[in-house]
Parts: sequence; C-alpha cells; structure tokens
Amino acid sequence: MRYAETGYNLEIDLTRGNIERVETDPKLTELHLGGLGTNAKILWDRVPPDTDPFSPDNLLIFGTGLLGATPAAGANRTVVSTYSPQTLLMGYSMMGGFLAPELKYAGYDKVVFRGKSPELVYVWIHNDKVEIRDAAHLKGKGAVETAELIKKELKDPNVQVAAIGLAGENRVYTASIEQGRSSASRLGVGAVMGDKRIKAIAIRGTKDINLARPAEYVELCNEVLKYIKFRNENPVPNVMTILQGLGSPQEMLHTDEKWHTENFMWGNARTRRKDFWNSEVEKKWKDTQEMVRTRLISCYNCPMKCGAIISVPGISTYMMKCFSKLTYAMAAFVDDLDFGFRIAQRATEYGVDGFSTPQIMAFAFELREAGILTEADFEGCPSDNEGKFFWLLDRIARREGIGDVLANGTHWAAQKIGKGAEAYAHNNIKKHEQLPLKLGMLNPVYFLMYATGEKANITQIEGQFPQGPFMTMEERQGFIKDWIQVPDEKFKQYVLDWEPRGERSNPYYPTVDMSVDIVDWQEMMHYIDDAVGVCAGLSSFPLKPPYHIHNYPKLISAAAGIDMDEEKLKEVYRRNRSLIRAVNVRRGLRRADEKPPEDHWKKRFPELEEKLLDAYYTFKGWNKDGIPTKETLHKLNLDYIAEDLEQRGIIKNG
Ligand code: SF4
Repeated sequence: MRYAETGYNLEIDLTRGNIERVETDPKLTELHLGGLGTNAKILWDRVPPDTDPFSPDNLLIFGTGLLGATPAAGANRTVVSTYSPQTLLMGYSMMGGFLAPELKYAGYDKVVFRGKSPELVYVWIHNDKVEIRDAAHLKGKGAVETAELIKKELKDPNVQVAAIGLAGENRVYTASIEQGRSSASRLGVGAVMGDKRIKAIAIRGTKDINLARPAEYVELCNEVLKYIKFRNENPVPNVMTILQGLGSPQEMLHTDEKWHTENFMWGNARTRRKDFWNSEVEKKWKDTQEMVRTRLISCYNCPMKCGAIISVPGISTYMMKCFSKLTYAMAAFVDDLDFGFRIAQRATEYGVDGFSTPQIMAFAFELREAGILTEADFEGCPSDNEGKFFWLLDRIARREGIGDVLANGTHWAAQKIGKGAEAYAHNNIKKHEQLPLKLGMLNPVYFLMYATGEKANITQIEGQFPQGPFMTMEERQGFIKDWIQVPDEKFKQYVLDWEPRGERSNPYYPTVDMSVDIVDWQEMMHYIDDAVGVCAGLSSFPLKPPYHIHNYPKLISAAAGIDMDEEKLKEVYRRNRSLIRAVNVRRGLRRADEKPPEDHWKKRFPELEEKLLDAYYTFKGWNKDGIPTKETLHKLNLDYIAEDLEQRGIIKNG
C-alpha cells in the first residue's frame, strides 16, 4: 500500500499518442519526497543535458507534492518542470489552485509528457480513462476561455483545466499555463507546452488517497489550522503590511500600495517615484479595486483567499493574484489602476507572465526612445501609454513584427537587436527578468539569494527571516519571543544584534557566515514545500508560518508512513538542492552566471560578494565554481551524479 502518494505516474508520448500508467519506485519518495524533487530526478535521468527546450526529447512534467490533496491546508501545488527556453536551465514553475489535488484524486502523482503532437490537442484525464483529444477548435482561444469551453464540452463544471493561450501556442518565452485560480508563469513553461502542441489538460478525479496514520495526521493538520487562525488574528507588528500576515501575498485584499508604488521601479525597472502615493491616489485605487473585485477566492483547501475574481465592465471575468494589478500599470507609467485590471485580463487570456511581460514592453519603448528600435518597428502603434501597451502586448502574443523579437524576452531580444540594446536588458538574472526593484546598500542575504537561486525568482526564495533590521531593541525582543519556527536559537541572536546603521548593519551584518545560515534556512523551507506540494504562502514565504522544520517531519511521517525526523528531512532538502544544482551544472551553469542584476544595488562590494559566494558554496559542499563535489554527492546518495559529472570532465578527482 502506498500512502499520501498514489504510486503511479501518467506517461504520455505525444508523438506516438501512447498513454501509460507507470508504477513509481517508493525508494525515490524516501530520497526526494515528490514534487520538485522527483521532477528533477526524472529530468536528470531521462533528458540528455544537451537537449534543446523545444526538442521532442524535452519533458514537460506536471508534478504533485507528497502531501498534495491530503487534509493539510494549502497542500495544492502543481510543480511544472522542463528545460526553460529562456534560461536554458531547468525551469520549474509552481501553481496553486485545484489541479494537483484533482490529479491525485484521479490516481496519479505526475503527468510526464514527452514527444510532440502533430496537431493541437488537449488531454482529458478522468480517473483511469485518459484520452488525447483534438483541440483544433480551441486554436487561438484565450486560456480562460479554453477552460470554459472544455468544461462545457465535457459537461462537468468540476473538471479542472490548465490551459495555454495564444502566447503559449506561439512559443512566447514568457508564456504561462493558466488554471482557474492560479498560473505557472515563470521560465517559459507555457512555451514548452505550446511546442508540444498541448492546448490544455483537463482532469477529473474521484478516487481516495490513503494516509498511513489518519487520526494522527488530521490532528496535526488541525494544529496547523489553529495556528493559521492565530496568525490571522495576530499580524506581525513593525513590518510592512504585506509581510504581516500569511498568504502569498494577499494583494487582492490589500489596497495600500504605497510600498510597491514608491519602492518598486516604474518603466523598464529604472524610475522610482518616491512621492507617488497620496490620499487622492489611495482613494481612487481603493475604489477601483473594490469595484472590480467581485470576491476573494482561495486555492484548494486553504482559508487564506489570496486571489480574487475580477470583473471589469465590458470584458470577461478572470482571476487575479499577487501584484500583477501593478506590474503593467507601473511599466507603462499609467497612474490609473483600472488600466492594470483591464490589460491583465487580456494578458491572462493570452497566457503570459505578469512579471516579465510588462518589463519587456517597457524595454521596447525605451529602445524606441533611444533610437535603437525605429518608428518602422512601431508602425500603427497608438501614441498614448495605455494604447501603446495594449498594441505591443498583441504583437508579442501573436509574434508579429517587432513582437516576434520581443517574445523571446529582454535578454534574447537585446542580442538579436544589437546596437547597444544589451545595456537596456539590465534587470535579468540568468537571462530572466526580475522584480523591478533597485536599492541602495547591498544586502548580503539577498545578494546570495539572487545570485544562487535556481528558481530565478526572488519571491520564491526569500521568507522566514525579516527583510531588514528592526529599529529598536524592544521591537526585536517582541519579534523573537514567539518565534517557534527557527531551526536554531542562533537566528534569534542575529535579529537582536542587527542594527539599521553602524557596524552591525548591511552590508557587513549579517556576517558572511550568518548570511549563509539564513539563506540555507530559507532555501530549505522552499525546497521542502516544493517537494511536499504545500503553498509557500503558508510556509517558506511569510514570517512565522504554520509549517516549519519542527512539524513537517511529523506530518510527512503520519501521512506517508516514512520514518522521518528533522535531520532526515534536512538531508532530503540538501539532496534535492544538490540534484537541481547538478541538473543545471550539466546544462552549463557556473559561478560566472551567479550574479544579481548589475544595478540592483547602488553600493556594491565586489570583495565581500566573492566571499559570500565562496562561503555559500563551501557550506553546500560545492566547489569554487558552484559544482557539488564528489564527496558531497556521495553523502547525499547521489553517486550516480558524481560518476556522470566525472565522465563529462565537469568534476575531477572529486
Ligand atoms: S495561501 Fe493563498 S496562494 Fe497559498 S494556497 Fe492559500 S489561497 Fe492559495
């Protein structure tokens, strides 16, 4: 009997139209848990490192986590993994919503797609019955529209659908996979889905999931719920509004956008508008948001309601989460929030990443102003800021004219355009657009996260530790007094000693070793969440979350029957971290690639940054180039990786 997981993957060969239900190896669950961990293992084992992301040999994996669909709150993540066309490294994008639980209830832990379909198709998974269906009638349809059409066609409103829009069909590198209440947006997973000619996956599952010790597990889940309630009633004081509570983040609830609009950059991630927010803007934006937000919604089995149904008069309804309401408006310098809601609707139907796409458009208009792109490139483009952005979004999704070049993201577009355009693609890490945030003084913890994170997305690496020092000792003592989540008491001292100014402030405090400790803790929680399929919004992302290193082993053990304790769980994390690093090392990732955007901080400290990287690599058991050593791989039961890297000459004599 398999517990928590189903023990089966669905393997679909799109070239041959072959569908197989394959039993998985329970030993791999013990080694990697599931989700991201086992996705990475499959990519390592089955996709040669020189595979082009758009080759039929590339895999597209939809993985659920080990705890997915169990009664644990927020255990609903789908981890989509593949080789990214944008970074050329392993891309793994996560979504919440309802897809993963539905897949597990249908009897599968993962769907693994290989090959390429000759025609556009959708896949219909209904428990044991799985079909590849013609999707010619869905060609060019919006992602949300596609989901609605499929539900009607299948005559079942409870079917969960993940679909791509036109951008995915056209292999736009920032194409997302949209699903009723969430989306997998980063790193071009929608482009790979489009390349494989999969318009959508529709799932309905009605089977049960077995739990090893159900009564004990439900008790633990109830404790988590109790803590969520406590945290909702006791927001963390003395930190920004979005960091006070749980969720990821609850942007649809909050209307106070002072912090984002005045600290994040406008346009092509360059202009800060320090005095933007005033009472007039606040009232106008609040009214706009409350008018279009018809209701707040949650993902499967979660009380947090991070998303919202958005109904702007005259256009179709869609779901919004996080702060895409701001990204387009800020990139376009439009002060009217209504624009943000209207363009995000079209972008959702096209299926594009709401972080990268606005920046790509702002980048294009900067190039036009600089004379690097010409008026001929923008023939027919309206002159007003709103009209310009709608026009260019259409061109990118359709890959028309200049939109075809821009559809590959700022890095690749700049390479193609030349004439100095590279300097304008200034906000990338590993070829991927980042949050438009530019700061003064280097923060050593964030330096490490930006430089070394494999997700190439800072919001999916940070969390747990406060983003800045508290002003007074009283605030610090107040913060640490009920900080049950710390894996080690030393973290409390770090908070107590951290000063906003002077010797114990950025960039030399936290010290190099402390910074490494903090980053390791943050990464650990993200890697565990991503393997068990729990939303970061209840675990690795917020301060003082309900899931932590002390209760996770008990939950995993009671659900899956795996003998688990804190040390063993930490080892699983280290194994998954080094495995993913090895997948990327084999694809060419090296120390030289590990750097934040050049202008992320005004004040940089090259010597300190080198020390931070050295210390981080040493702590992980990697060599100076960021490659796991033979000894480390051996300790983590990853000898087969060491052998492979040795054979390729990537590591020598360990
Ligand atoms: S915390 Fe928010 S994003 Fe996470 S599962 Fe709950 S509703 Fe979804």
